[in-house]
Amino acid sequence: MISKNELPVAVIGAGPVGLAAAAHLAARNLHPIVFDKGESVGAALLSWGHVRVFSPWKYNIDDEARTLLDRGGWKPPAPDDLPNGREIVEEYLVPLSSVPEIASGLKLGATVLAVARDGLDKVSSAGRDSAPFVVRYADADGEHEVVVQAVIDASGTWGQPNPIALNGLPVPGEATSSDLVSYGIPDVTGSRRADYLGKRTLVVGSGHSAINVALALMELQASDSKTEVLWALRRHGVERLLGGGLNDQLPERGALGLAAKKAMDDGRLQMLTSFSARTITRDGDRLVVGSLVNGTPRDVEVDRVVVTTGFRPDFSFLRELRIEIDPTVEAPPALAPLIDPNFHSCGTVPPHGVEKLKHPEKDFFIVGSKSYGRAPTFLMKTGYEQVRSVVAEFAGDHVAARQVQLVLPETGVCSADPGGKSSSACCGGPAPETVDACCVADAVAKVEGKCGCGCGPKTEKSVRGTEGA
Ligand SMILES: Cc1cc2nc3c(=O)[nH]c(=O)nc-3n(C[C@H](O)[C@H](O)[C@H](O)COP(=O)(O)OP(=O)(O)OC[C@H]3O[C@@H](n4cnc5c(N)ncnc54)[C@H](O)[C@@H]3O)c2cc1C
Repeated sequence: MISKNELPVAVIGAGPVGLAAAAHLAARNLHPIVFDKGESVGAALLSWGHVRVFSPWKYNIDDEARTLLDRGGWKPPAPDDLPNGREIVEEYLVPLSSVPEIASGLKLGATVLAVARDGLDKVSSAGRDSAPFVVRYADADGEHEVVVQAVIDASGTWGQPNPIALNGLPVPGEATSSDLVSYGIPDVTGSRRADYLGKRTLVVGSGHSAINVALALMELQASDSKTEVLWALRRHGVERLLGGGLNDQLPERGALGLAAKKAMDDGRLQMLTSFSARTITRDGDRLVVGSLVNGTPRDVEVDRVVVTTGFRPDFSFLRELRIEIDPTVEAPPALAPLIDPNFHSCGTVPPHGVEKLKHPEKDFFIVGSKSYGRAPTFLMKTGYEQVRSVVAEFAGDHVAARQVQLVLPETGVCSADPGGKSSSACCGGPAPETVDACCVADAVAKVEGKCGCGCGPKTEKSVRGTEGA
């Protein structure tokens, strides 16, 4: 009979982090089986394939994946170039998924429906830690099960966009207007151009994705001046959002904010601040969004609505596992305080691996963007460090699993010691609403004539040490 240690390791999701996990597993002679519900690897990235990312190639490639690729004579992209989502898939993820060590266990068009301990429901404790897992998945041929020794859930959050309302629920009429309401980053200048050209569109959201959509819609204004763009911010003051150009070390991300500011100054972009949608009603081909804008009721009449208000994780297929999720952020409890957006407006990326990611269920980890739950600040590089640590743990290399090594750009990276007294407050908490700064310490530093979100010199930040030390 085959022993548990000889079984494969399941990876759910063939995005950048899932495939990096597969590379690390292969490097440690563990056999990965990678499931993705998409017909291609990087399916989520292809949904926003037209969007240029703000971190250059050098931050988007996992070290172990590079080693595997180099062996096959891969031609790496220029390290400082900024790829779009499609280029990440075509130039990096597809070649990576084609290396024999990963290709042999890759299942595309395979949706994971459930994960459980083999023969043990959630309540059964005896022998639980040593029992293998069973992964149930569906593909074109029906439902199947695979028995594995461990599970890495890298299924992302892209499939579950947040609805429009401030309370986290869809507003009445939102679901029935789905043909005119889009989520995420629709390709308004490409495949979806005809839907938006010459139309009046409301963009709701306060992140860089929202800026991206608003700026792309303004490109359409140049072709058809009837194209109108209304940009609604639900919570944040616009100054801080647009100020990224001044304090963001990933220049492309900061440039977005500066471009949006110029469009507002030119009157090409109408802002609705302190916006709260209450209802969506159809009026023929148009939508009326019943709203509160700065506390005043207002019916916003538009042709289209784009909702870019973030994403949330899907735990439904983990129902039979003993997972522990922070009630606010929906991240593992040890990680959640370090990324809670109530405190970490600058996108802290403290070093973390297995100790911060663990659940009561042994040999099961959530990694990648899903590990951040509802927090919006995830970077691929962080995920690569997560899977390096998790796979080292599976391989029994507990020392390497806890020797956290990160090299990150200092953009949005808080320099507060995550293990210190400010662990629950990035640089001491959020900056005052009116100040163009990412956190309290950043605001103070700027008053003193310093710069940088980490409140120190704008240098690359290297973090090495033992997790939790
Ligand atoms: C517009 C945008 C720009 C970004 N820019 C950057 C950037 O510049 N730099 C950076 O570091 N990060 C960036 N990010 C953040 C983050 O790095 C990406 O979202 C990245 O794709 C996350 O990788 P992942 O592997 O965790 O998840 P994903 O890429 O979302 O991959 C998850 C995969 O799981 C699959 N899946 C989901 N459910 C199931 C299931 N039940 N069964 C089987 N398969 C399933 C999906 O099809 C998908 O392919 C950006 C994100 C967005 C949305």
